[in-house]
Amino acid sequence: MNIEKIQAFTLENAIDIFKNSVDAIIAVNIDEDCYHAVLKRGYFESFINESGTYQELMNKLWFHFGDTGETITEDYQVFIPALGKVEGKYSKHLKVMFDDHQRPVQMNIYPLDEDSSYLFVLDVLDTSETGDDFQTSAKVNTMQNAYLFSMYMDLVKDTTSSINISEISDETVNTQLKYTDWRMMIVNMIWPDDQPMFLERTDPKYLKENFIPGHTSSFDCLMMNLEGKYIWVKLIFSRAETNNDDDYRFVFMVQDIHENTVELMSTLKKYEEMASMDPLTNVFNHGRIETELMNAVDAKKKNGTTISAMILDIDHFKLVNDNHGHSVGDMTLKRFSQIISDFFTGSESVVGRWGGEEFVVVCYDTDLYEIKELAEHLRIKVASESFKAIDHITCSIGVTEVTDNDEATALFERMDKALYDAKSSGRNCVKSLT
Ligand code: GH3
Ligand code: MG
Ligand code: MG
Repeated sequence: MNIEKIQAFTLENAIDIFKNSVDAIIAVNIDEDCYHAVLKRGYFESFINESGTYQELMNKLWFHFGDTGETITEDYQVFIPALGKVEGKYSKHLKVMFDDHQRPVQMNIYPLDEDSSYLFVLDVLDTSETGDDFQTSAKVNTMQNAYLFSMYMDLVKDTTSSINISEISDETVNTQLKYTDWRMMIVNMIWPDDQPMFLERTDPKYLKENFIPGHTSSFDCLMMNLEGKYIWVKLIFSRAETNNDDDYRFVFMVQDIHENTVELMSTLKKYEEMASMDPLTNVFNHGRIETELMNAVDAKKKNGTTISAMILDIDHFKLVNDNHGHSVGDMTLKRFSQIISDFFTGSESVVGRWGGEEFVVVCYDTDLYEIKELAEHLRIKVASESFKAIDHITCSIGVTEVTDNDEATALFERMDKALYDAKSSGRNCVKSLT
């Protein structure tokens, strides 16, 4: 446009350009919770209705849910009226979801004559039009995303301030919320089992007694996120540095630690499993099967469950080592434990290696008669199997049933004595002791 044209440019021309260029103009009354679309085109054509509630508009625009149909968890709704309030002219960059794509939108808000009525002017920007400001805000968002929620609080005045819910918006809410009210509101979002801990640690009395100035402490729990899904979070409390003993100002933050915690838990589970397994035979190790004997006597005492146990010992195993070498001995032990494990698969039984060539099995819902039968079948099974390099082996088995006032050591001694009996009786047999 040359200088003459620029000088001939009128307000009408400007209004025309404006009219044909912006994507939506919406009249809104915040207090009455309603809007009316004066103009909508492009992405906004189907995105917003002719009219509706301001709340619905907020969900779509402010909280970047777009047209996904998602809404904010009910417990979060308390923060919304405070977030959606505007005063005077206001301008903001939004990220809005259109057809699964997030697009930058420039929003300008102009107050109308009446109270709480506004004109919202919305314009979808090309990525090239967004400028530095938008990029910075994206960076801030990434940083804030690790912290889902932050707030400043004063326990003496019982107030909260500068609430920031980065999940919802990068803006700060300055709503008048008492700390004690906030606490009782937010507790609903904590996983029920974690609620007592939450209430204890957020109790003003607890915070006052346990935090010297500058002290920071945290705990982890499951908390509902914006979409109503429970995720692992770290709740962090930090008391402000102060020389005044009566000054109890705190910063509170919620950090999203979900992914790391889930990973950590699976690692812990793996370690726990590893720590209970015998590396050679892949059945439970001595410590773990010893615990199972204790569990068995406890279960008998508490629930009266019928439980029996057996100890198996390979006959003349020393000869296997002496005649074929230690590695064949090891191979035999692996195969022997595999036969036992397979035998008890599908039953409520726990198999472990007591040590050397001795294995213990705890069988739940099994009485003395039944375990004798099981042991006999297992003995025959072992004797009938062929083992690499050594052909056949046999084993001796001692069995017993858990009694009402049993102890793990007494239980073990009984089956060990029964085993000794089996050995003295010529091996490859089952003996029991009550
Ligand atoms: P019995 O019929 O009286 O039970 O005779 P046995 O030879 O089986 O019993 P003994 O207790 O005399 O020998 C057990 C042998 O088991 C001795 C030991 O070298 C061997 N042993 C223990 N642990 C292992 C292991 O992990 N690998 C191998 N290869 N041998 C082992
Ligand atoms: Mg032995
Ligand atoms: Mg032996």
